[in-house]
Amino acid sequence: MTIGLLKESAPENRVALMPESVATILKMNVQVIVESGAGANASAADDDYKKAGATIGTRQQALQADLVLGIRGIDDNDFNSLKSSAVLLGQFLPLFNAPKMKSVAAKNISLISLDSIPRTTRAQAMDVLSSQANLAGYKAVVLAATEYPRIFPMLMTAAGTITPAKVLILGAGVAGLQAIATAKRLGAVVEVFDTRPAVKEEVMSLGGKFIEVEGAADASKAGGYAVEQSEDFIKRQKEKIHEHASKADIIITTAQIPGRKAPILVERATIDAMKPGSVIIDLAASTGGNTDLTKDRETVMYNGIKIIGNSNLAGDTAIAASTLYGKNVINFLKLIVTKEGSLNLNFEDDLVKGSCITHGGNIVNEKVKELAN
Ligand code: NAD
Repeated sequence: MTIGLLKESAPENRVALMPESVATILKMNVQVIVESGAGANASAADDDYKKAGATIGTRQQALQADLVLGIRGIDDNDFNSLKSSAVLLGQFLPLFNAPKMKSVAAKNISLISLDSIPRTTRAQAMDVLSSQANLAGYKAVVLAATEYPRIFPMLMTAAGTITPAKVLILGAGVAGLQAIATAKRLGAVVEVFDTRPAVKEEVMSLGGKFIEVEGAADASKAGGYAVEQSEDFIKRQKEKIHEHASKADIIITTAQIPGRKAPILVERATIDAMKPGSVIIDLAASTGGNTDLTKDRETVMYNGIKIIGNSNLAGDTAIAASTLYGKNVINFLKLIVTKEGSLNLNFEDDLVKGSCITHGGNIVNEKVKELAN
């Protein structure tokens, strides 16, 4: 079997496999064709891939493989170059791209989207949402610290005392928890909101203060994810956020609901109450953002407050992100590549079933099928 590794298009810096991951995959009795330049933005040269044992080729050659690896979506021209019944493996956000999945299915492509893998213990080693969100949470805090015109830790000097930065984190999922840990390490005072009371203990164990709003909708049957909240809850939550945001120097927002627009948690009136020099980093920007003023992949200056909308901050740690993504891919390949190096999609396996979106000419994921029609 051949595996093709694609170069991502700008502004994506990551690559689905670093050379060391290619070396591991080659032990599975497969061949790897790397599109020339695939690792360039993650500091991996074609020569590094060659040394690892891969063949360097054109995009067309990589697209002709039995299994094609990428991260983001590929365009219509690329689809036309795939072999019929090829497997395409990446992070394609099918809940947000459901109509497109119809044409993918029509081409008889088996599309596997690693962001759809069930959030179970066994899946953790293949969970690209987690590996990338972890890095994004770290990078959000480091970026905020760079953009903030003061500093994070308290400083007591002969010239006077500087008080520690107040960081407010909205959403304590994987990214939010890493943001808490990073902000604490830098010496900030950290406050946290989440609708899931289950995260309170984790927040506190990292040194964050958990701000509770009573009456959140029960998310216990949503596989660990958040669910949409009632209007009354959202109103009370916004009031509480307003109170804490107006005293914060930094806000990091990460609140998302799978397959839905992100909730607006920080309204313009709240930003109006913030101090000039404050920084907001919105990791939910690509699904609409958690503030009224967020623009995806843009920095908005408003009354001296910087609002940075970026849902792909993991891409700014290209080597680390590509390394972890590649490890996730290797772990998943162990499920679908036989000892002899051929493909075997076993739909009895809940991880294969859960992440496979199109197969045999059909959309096989029920949620995506519903959204596509
Ligand atoms: P996510 O990116 O979907 O959302 C980020 C956070 O925002 C969540 O904690 C969510 O509760 C919160 N949020 C949503 N709406 C909100 C609102 N109105 N106000 C405040 N907060 C709000 O989350 P994620 O990082 O992907 O994690 C989701 C869940 O999956 C977590 O329970 C996590 O522990 C679990 N998880 C499990 C595994 C696994 O077992 N394989 C792996 C990763 C994550």
